[in-house]
Amino acid sequence: MTATPRIEEIRARADAATPGHWGTDYDGKGTYYVHARLRTERGAGMVSDGVVATLQGEHGDGQTYRNASFAARAREDVPFLLDRVAELEALVQGMADPDPCWFDHHGYCQAHGWTATSPACPHGRAQSLFPELKES
Ligand SMILES: [Zn+2]
Repeated sequence: MTATPRIEEIRARADAATPGHWGTDYDGKGTYYVHARLRTERGAGMVSDGVVATLQGEHGDGQTYRNASFAARAREDVPFLLDRVAELEALVQGMADPDPCWFDHHGYCQAHGWTATSPACPHGRAQSLFPELKES
């Protein structure tokens, strides 16, 4: 499977970030802190492995909370999505026909029985995404 350079860069950034999970904590005045491994421990209260981001807003603005929540959940959402992309790319590569498309006068792909021009033949689109699929 061929990962695009951007996917590889995203994976490298995710792998280099502080391990998760990440959680949010609010100071009651408008600032949210994104913590690594935020948890409650008996006798110590709320503890974490450190603050990974600070988001300052206005008390009650809501947007700062949504931004902090997004940042905290990205720690686990990004690896999940990267794994899902890899799974779907492998599926597409396994299902795509490597035979080249050939088109009739309507622009329909006769090789794969695709009778539309938009979207184009899915086998041709898969071959564009994964050039190694093309029959040589
Ligand atoms: Zn086709």
